[in-house]
Amino acid sequence: MQFRNLKMVDYVVYGRGCFHQLDAILAPNRKNQAPMIFLVDHFFEGKPLISKIPLRGEDKIIFVDVTHEPKTKQVDALAQDIKDEFGTISGVVGIGGGSAMDLAKAVSLMMNNPGSSADYQGWDLVKVPGVYKVGIPTLSGTGAEVSRTTVLTGPERKLGMNSDFTPFDQIVLDPELTKDAPANQRFYTGMDCYIHCIESLEGTFLNEFSKSFGEKALELCREVFLSNEPWSDTSDDKLMMASYAGGMSIAYSQVGVAHAVSYGLSYLLGTKHGVGNCIVMNHIEEYYPAGVAEFKKMVAHNNIDIPAGICKGLTDAQFDTMINVSLGMKPLWENALGKDWQQIMTREKLRALYEKL
Ligand code: NAD
Ligand code: ZN
Repeated sequence: MQFRNLKMVDYVVYGRGCFHQLDAILAPNRKNQAPMIFLVDHFFEGKPLISKIPLRGEDKIIFVDVTHEPKTKQVDALAQDIKDEFGTISGVVGIGGGSAMDLAKAVSLMMNNPGSSADYQGWDLVKVPGVYKVGIPTLSGTGAEVSRTTVLTGPERKLGMNSDFTPFDQIVLDPELTKDAPANQRFYTGMDCYIHCIESLEGTFLNEFSKSFGEKALELCREVFLSNEPWSDTSDDKLMMASYAGGMSIAYSQVGVAHAVSYGLSYLLGTKHGVGNCIVMNHIEEYYPAGVAEFKKMVAHNNIDIPAGICKGLTDAQFDTMINVSLGMKPLWENALGKDWQQIMTREKLRALYEKL
């Protein structure tokens, strides 16, 4: 039996307003005159947060377009532009949701690894550490702040650069940064965390490490999404810790059916991770009866619309593409359904599920 030797984030600062410590945190990590590059979610362009970014010397803010989930060619272009303009840099700071954080991780790695980021989509293909990297979430739920992956859509596959070099050196968890998130977006990304918990806790890979974090994250999700009080600062505080703990839970287990199916949607239709998981979760009571019932309760309680009918009119070839992508996520299926998962999740069964979405 081989046990996972988990590489974690080196430094974590948590607290409402802790963003103001960023200047002091970055200072010892600045190398000579080399700049820090801030990759900031384009939502914040022109917003007050920008004036609080501690720019020094040649530091630069680059607003990143996260309309679509990160692509390998976007990462390669960003890394090349930074190399062309500055040569070497001190580090990359990603500020935003899972997309901006994933871009920051990937760009950091591509500053020091040759070729295209597409060459490193997979497990443990990254050869050398990237530059110093910091993650600062402005949405809570994905767990991208703690994970050892950065999910990228490449020419051939949607797959992360999973490696021990991928986790951030530092994360800054300041719940104040999440306060302007629109209710729908906050819910979709928050449900990513809820679904991480259900898939981890109901999975065959479960162990006490994952369970400890998963149960706490689940409890926090329930407190925020089933509360009778209006959304408050405390809700943001809790959801940020739920995201962290949910990410720690799956780091030592795996996700399951909702993620495996949602990957197919996102590959073919570009459906974003959070909402895609919700679309699938709405229809998989067969696998997670209690989790799906509670999910539906949360949807109703928060007055959220979950899109439906997104697979209407797709061709056989398109269904096949989604099925291939989904069935390629072997560890997810094995976690969800056990070693004999291929007998349970046949192509016909998966097709029928996609047709319902
Ligand atoms: P996101 O980063 O894609 O952002 C969604 C939208 O919210 C964007 O329009 C963005 O501009 C906006 N936004 C961000 N912060 C905001 C704020 N404070 N106020 C208002 N709007 C704000 O959403 P997400 O759900 O956080 O991340 C999804 C991405 O994360 C996907 O690309 C997915 O593949 C990735 N992901 C990565 C991991 C990992 O472990 N690396 C895990 C799960 C998901
Ligand atoms: Zn997820």
